[in-house]
Amino acid sequence: MQNVYCKVNMTKILVTGGSGMVGRHLREILPDAEYISSKDYDLTNEADVRSLCERGWDHVIHLAARVGGILENISRPGDFIEENLLINALLLKYARAAKIPRLTAILSTCIYPDVYDRYPMVEEDIHNGPPQRTNFSYAIAKRAVAVHIDAINQQYGTQYNYLIPCNLYGEFDSIDETKSHFVTALLAKILKAEREGANGIQLLGTGRPMRQFMYAGDLAEVINDCVEKQVTESFNVAVSENLTIKEIAETALKATGNEHLAIRFDNEAKDGQFRKDVSNEKMLRVLPGFEFTPLAKGIRKVYEYYKSNNIV
Ligand code: NAP
Repeated sequence: MQNVYCKVNMTKILVTGGSGMVGRHLREILPDAEYISSKDYDLTNEADVRSLCERGWDHVIHLAARVGGILENISRPGDFIEENLLINALLLKYARAAKIPRLTAILSTCIYPDVYDRYPMVEEDIHNGPPQRTNFSYAIAKRAVAVHIDAINQQYGTQYNYLIPCNLYGEFDSIDETKSHFVTALLAKILKAEREGANGIQLLGTGRPMRQFMYAGDLAEVINDCVEKQVTESFNVAVSENLTIKEIAETALKATGNEHLAIRFDNEAKDGQFRKDVSNEKMLRVLPGFEFTPLAKGIRKVYEYYKSNNIV
């Protein structure tokens, strides 16, 4: 019997979450796809998702998610699980029903166990412990996508896959303090210190937790590679370096010519997850030779963008 999900003619590509940070990066390298946001289709609405999928696509890149900063995740966990479960379950259900041959969903390393006994974590470790408490409901909704995709691939022969990226930074990140990610917030502090002639910046916590930070444009390149090379494997997408918050801040000060600024840590503030580094071994097997943007270079690029566009 012919597997209907295997026949691919790469012409019609849909990107959900097209107005977000990753979507805007992807648009620069995959301009012919159709990019949608919640203003075009509300993916928590079943009728919207059905009519979207029935338009017929060769490959859906699923970026859309209800994403938020730590404060929002803590204060609105019900919204995070409800909206994300709905968005993902509806999209996967109707993509499969409409026989869309390929779908790539973007998850996040927050789906991994909060604490583990072996780092970096590999793809098989996803279900080996509960995710971090502060974004538990968001992480569980994202983890469910991995389960859902593996299950329908097994039962229906779909060739859908998911990518699990580490923390991101990029030109199009939100600079809203309640939503922004660490590197963006750091650059905002550096630019403010420059403007005000301050002698330092203050960061929350001890500076000891470790993070993998990747330029969002690199994730867009990996997604584009998945489309072009018709990759069907699911894997982590992460840089090899796992640096402490202090090391990342020092890199940013050096990259922006602000080494003279002192870093003060607010030790009263909670540190959050200590480490969550994941392996990129599988990714580099699937996409050999992929080159990540070095952190200092990526930070410099985003800093110049913020500065020249008066974003901060
Ligand atoms: P983002 O900037 O917050 O953008 C989210 C996108 O989802 C927006 O286009 C938004 O549309 C859309 N969306 C939200 N609710 C929707 C709904 N009900 N119906 C339709 N569209 C909806 O996200 P991002 O940073 O680009 O992240 C993209 C993906 O990567 C997400 O799945 C995220 O979990 C994952 N990820 C992000 C990071 C990171 O550090 N940013 C790290 C790892 C993984 P509107 O603009 O109309 O609201």
